[in-house]
Amino acid sequence: MIELAIFRTGGVEIAPSSFLSAGSSEKAYAPVWSALLRTSEGNILFDTGLHPIHIDRPDATFGPSALKVVMAREDAIVARLATLGVRPEDVSVVVNSHLHFDHAGNNGAFPKATFVVQADHLAFAKGKPNFPGVYWDIPELTYLPTTGRARVAPGVEVVPTPGHAPGHQSLVVDLAEAGRVVLSGDAAFTRENLERGEIRQPDETAAKESLALIRSLVGDDLDRIFVSHDAAAFARWRHAPEWYR
Ligand SMILES: [Zn+2]
Repeated sequence: MIELAIFRTGGVEIAPSSFLSAGSSEKAYAPVWSALLRTSEGNILFDTGLHPIHIDRPDATFGPSALKVVMAREDAIVARLATLGVRPEDVSVVVNSHLHFDHAGNNGAFPKATFVVQADHLAFAKGKPNFPGVYWDIPELTYLPTTGRARVAPGVEVVPTPGHAPGHQSLVVDLAEAGRVVLSGDAAFTRENLERGEIRQPDETAAKESLALIRSLVGDDLDRIFVSHDAAAFARWRHAPEWYR
């Protein structure tokens, strides 16, 4: 049986127009989150969140920019996992949707894990300033470059959803009680992206196809899609220490 817990690892203040052209240009709060899956083959972590350096230094990664990090001490992923009785060494697999600093910020905290990332994403992100390698391009870490859809554990599968970046991937989880859910990563920032089939991305053609793919994976039931940065949607979900089963 798979159990899924979702927890905030911080947040950002960002203009909704960054997510959807029709959105407001006034900055608003958007959560950043990760998920832990307990499976028959061990603990799987989806995304590693923001690095705790941002608690005291919100500008630590990019300096003053269009995006302001908001992070509390309790948001640090190791602290969040501890409240679930999980130590970093208890995590056997990490799936990164992609390697931006709010999704891979704590990869270095999991040197015992295998990191599942699409091969073309690893190649794309390497050396790029907007994918700061300090958080993920670390010699001790074990990356498993993956190509296409791939099973991570029984009932857990990565599915490529490019558009935000080449090789971006989402996680499909088949739960016994809740049914199939998708953790979209930045393939869908907000529920409105899914509803409208529109999103602001570097490759909007690929991104629209990815939105359609994600919807089709759950039979258009948008309540089964956990989008990456939607405060209103996030507030409606169950949060750790509650579990989806
Ligand atoms: Zn991103």
